[in-house]
Amino acid sequence: MTDASLVVTDLRVEFSGFVAVGGVSFDAHPGEVRFLIGPNGAGKTTCIDAITGLTKGTGSARLGEKELLGRQVHKIVRLGVGRTFQTASVFDELTVLQNLDIAAGRHRPAISLLRARRGVDPAIERALEETGLAGELTTPAGILSHGQKQWLEIAMLLVQDAKVLLLDEPVAGMSQDERTATGELLQRIAAKRIVLVVEHDMDFMRRYATRVTVLHQGRVLSQGTVAEVQADPRVQEVYLGT
Ligand code: ADP
Repeated sequence: MTDASLVVTDLRVEFSGFVAVGGVSFDAHPGEVRFLIGPNGAGKTTCIDAITGLTKGTGSARLGEKELLGRQVHKIVRLGVGRTFQTASVFDELTVLQNLDIAAGRHRPAISLLRARRGVDPAIERALEETGLAGELTTPAGILSHGQKQWLEIAMLLVQDAKVLLLDEPVAGMSQDERTATGELLQRIAAKRIVLVVEHDMDFMRRYATRVTVLHQGRVLSQGTVAEVQADPRVQEVYLGT
């Protein structure tokens, strides 16, 4: 739960002189499902990498009063900034509950799984309910559907009490039903947190975005509501093709 906003100002990232992100500014507030879109290579993932400390960036990325740039990855995580990757990074051989235990910093030996329900933390219980995984407690993560794996990753961030969730293409490869369930999940979790979604899927963006930032060649091309961005001729020209 957070009242703070994420405010990114003049973010720049260079790789050996190549400007991948060339002065990007945007903000995201609790209560909105904020989208970052743009063609391949626009700099979307690099923005998230810089905000989460995986890549060095200059400028500013503040969560409330706290500057994130320049901090180590684990310190940024501790401030409540969590992310998912395009390929879900869960432990396939462990159950849903074991994955969530690890996210919560607990270790549950396999022997206690039969009694799993009894020992579930309230935070894990809430995350399971929120992500619709309550019936999958003892399912090995490896046999979850593609969508369920993404939800498990989101549940792991919720268990860690993430205040900011940065989600890299969360609906890539999902069925239509899974996309709808994911969109509704994002709306639910965004009520009390900051949700920033990097996405290629235009239909998904149109349905669930509150505000959108369009990146092109490392810069902000357009920014606003879905309607504003779609009506922007520059966006139509380079990206939406409509
Ligand atoms: P997007 O997520 O919008 O598809 P990226 O942020 O992945 O774009 O990449 C932006 C640009 O930066 C691309 O031209 C990409 O090739 C380049 N880039 C990304 N990471 C690196 C890196 N580690 N080294 C060099 N260039 C990179």
